[in-house]
Amino acid sequence: MTNAGFQFSVGTRLPGKPGRTGVITTPHGQIRTPAFIPVGTRASVKGVLPEAMAALGAQAILANAYHLYLQPGADVVDEAGGVGRFMNWPGPTFTDSGGFQVLSLGAGFKKVLAMSTAGLANDDVIAKQSGRMAHVDDDGVTFKSHLDGSLHRFTPEVSMTVQHQLGADIIFAFDECTTLMNTRHYQEASVARTHAWAERCLAAHAQLTAERLGKPYQALFGVVQGAQFEDLRRMAATGLAGLEVDGYGFDGYGIGGALEKENLARIVGWCATSLPEAAPRHLLGISEMDDLFAAVEAGADTFDCVAPSRSARHGALYSPDGRYNVTRAAFKKDFGPPSDECDCYTCRHYTRSYLHHLLRSGEMLGATLATIHNEAFVVRLVDRMRAAIEDAGQAAFDHLRSEFLGRYFGG
Ligand SMILES: [Zn+2]
Repeated sequence: MTNAGFQFSVGTRLPGKPGRTGVITTPHGQIRTPAFIPVGTRASVKGVLPEAMAALGAQAILANAYHLYLQPGADVVDEAGGVGRFMNWPGPTFTDSGGFQVLSLGAGFKKVLAMSTAGLANDDVIAKQSGRMAHVDDDGVTFKSHLDGSLHRFTPEVSMTVQHQLGADIIFAFDECTTLMNTRHYQEASVARTHAWAERCLAAHAQLTAERLGKPYQALFGVVQGAQFEDLRRMAATGLAGLEVDGYGFDGYGIGGALEKENLARIVGWCATSLPEAAPRHLLGISEMDDLFAAVEAGADTFDCVAPSRSARHGALYSPDGRYNVTRAAFKKDFGPPSDECDCYTCRHYTRSYLHHLLRSGEMLGATLATIHNEAFVVRLVDRMRAAIEDAGQAAFDHLRSEFLGRYFGG
């Protein structure tokens, strides 16, 4: 028994589509899927107490292995009893592998992972080797800390060690994120590299799980890359699904890398239909409301996104009639809630006028209240999708989508 404490059960399926509802069971509780997983990059959803995240309906939090490795150090989090206990979040936790960050935080390399290549010249996208802060070779990635420029190296074994120390319930295999601008030839080599790293991750995971006996079981997800190429995505997915090392296979799968908005549903669908039906699938990084619907229908069970909190800190609030900026002059004396139809803590107690004031004057509470509303908005939207699928399947899901998006983008 290698996966004690971790389970996934499929609930209602969308007929003829990979989308479905389900329940992920972890040692720290259950996640009803599809579910939106808020991001707490440095073991904190910026400005919001974990209690408030639980109250608004968040089922799990995703933290970043790269950031916690640099500060405070994975050993500190380990001694604290794992990332959940460290941040006083008793529910399920995820950490990503660090692959995305080590490859994206370098100067010039950042834009490589943009959701869309429109408007970017080739030179913007692929930084010259000398300008990069990360260098990939077949064994791993050498990168400079974005904090102090110090040199570090992540390999599959390092990522597994760090993520075992961080102790999240769901962890990810170390992968190489490529760009949409990389050549087909490079994508092929990268998928092969990510596959070889996945195998090393499973071996390290098996060893660490055995060594750290008595710790709650951590589920390891393999990450499907392959950019916009169907054959590469399918090959990567079936390759990962077939891997087993020392009795350990992947407990679930991440869908990562370069995803153009217009291809998102197709790419998620290719991956979902090539992966084992019984395993959960996590879409790494997603940004907009229409993407959420597309991802759910195409078979993503969970997804994470920094957009709700990042937008909130800049005063951009979600409402059923679209996103608006509460710092605009029009809201100075608007004494209504951020959204009439939201019953989050912020909307029950505070006005647009007050948020306008707080955010314009740089008061920390502004970010807190705005983030609570935006996170609640997205968490609940995905909850509604789940309820629609469970209640009446495709018809109810389609109805929710056309009604919600029509108003959100038409308003
Ligand atoms: Zn609200």
